[in-house]
Amino acid sequence: MSAIADVVLGRCCAGCDLPGIALCPVCEGELAPRPRLRRSLDMDEISAGLHLPVACSIDYRGEVRQILYRYKDHRIPQLARALGPCLASSIGFVAGHAGVPAREVALAVMPTRASTAKRRGFDSLAAITRVAISHHPVAAVCRPLADIRAAGQTKTLGVWERQHQAAGAFQLRGPLPSGPIMIVDDIVTTGATAREAAATLMLAGAHVIGVAVVAGTP
Ligand SMILES: [Zn+2]
Repeated sequence: MSAIADVVLGRCCAGCDLPGIALCPVCEGELAPRPRLRRSLDMDEISAGLHLPVACSIDYRGEVRQILYRYKDHRIPQLARALGPCLASSIGFVAGHAGVPAREVALAVMPTRASTAKRRGFDSLAAITRVAISHHPVAAVCRPLADIRAAGQTKTLGVWERQHQAAGAFQLRGPLPSGPIMIVDDIVTTGATAREAAATLMLAGAHVIGVAVVAGTP
């Protein structure tokens, strides 16, 4: 049987391929949350001097990278149980940074491109978020943004619309919670996508306090 099949069946560690276990103790240790500030998003065009914190709890490299890849692309939903505490710790960090109790915060889940979600067959971020809020209760979980790059709408836009869409790949898809909002995502790299999401929400009047992610590139 192939290594991939073994992983899917939980016969190999998702991080290091050690046989006989879905996640070995060493790789589980790599997922121990160490929440910290990973990026600071410059939101100057929204409000002069405003920066939003992006917190992560693990580094997106090595075994962690492999675990997240296999979790999402090989659809191993059981790994959400191991990844959820990382998101929970990041949520706690951002709430603390903003001086707002997490239980008063609404989480805005970053949208997945429809094509990606369909290919994967399950909503990987939603599953991690469910585990995270069982560790760290929040006021609400919402999905106020749609990824309009996913809907193929860019093809129908004119030049002016394209230029203005470049300022935001996202579109509001419903009413916003009135209280503080925290964006949640699985991985942050440059922070450009998170920044676009935050800008879209803030321009609509949302009180965004920061971004919590599972893992960040060092
Ligand atoms: Zn391992």
